[in-house]
Amino acid sequence: MAREDCPCGTALPYEECCGPLHRGGAAPTALALMRSRFSAFALGLERYLLDSWDPSTRPDTVDLDGEVEWRRLQIVDTALGGPWDETGVVEYRASFREAGRPGLLQERSRFVRVEGRWLYVDGDVSP
Ligand SMILES: [Zn+2]
Repeated sequence: MAREDCPCGTALPYEECCGPLHRGGAAPTALALMRSRFSAFALGLERYLLDSWDPSTRPDTVDLDGEVEWRRLQIVDTALGGPWDETGVVEYRASFREAGRPGLLQERSRFVRVEGRWLYVDGDVSP
């Protein structure tokens, strides 16, 4: 899929966007990590989701539901999360289809930077 647009919606090719992060590169910002995690959901990269999760909140396993197809990521808000920050917040809306029906998830997610790597901590899902 080298020539295809990245699932996270930047309009960049996957290889210039989330691909390098999925292969072990460090995300420069919390937003970049958020995008790469959305792409990982879309591509079914369960290992990457665990590796980019803070150990204090990380589940033992991630079982992606094959019925859910992640379609589009929209960033609503960000706070901190830059290269010199220790924490960051990204609020996003993710649209998906589940068994043919459209759905929307909105979450305000918290991130921490540990030894130069951004990690997902947890988030508040909007009703
Ligand atoms: Zn991407």
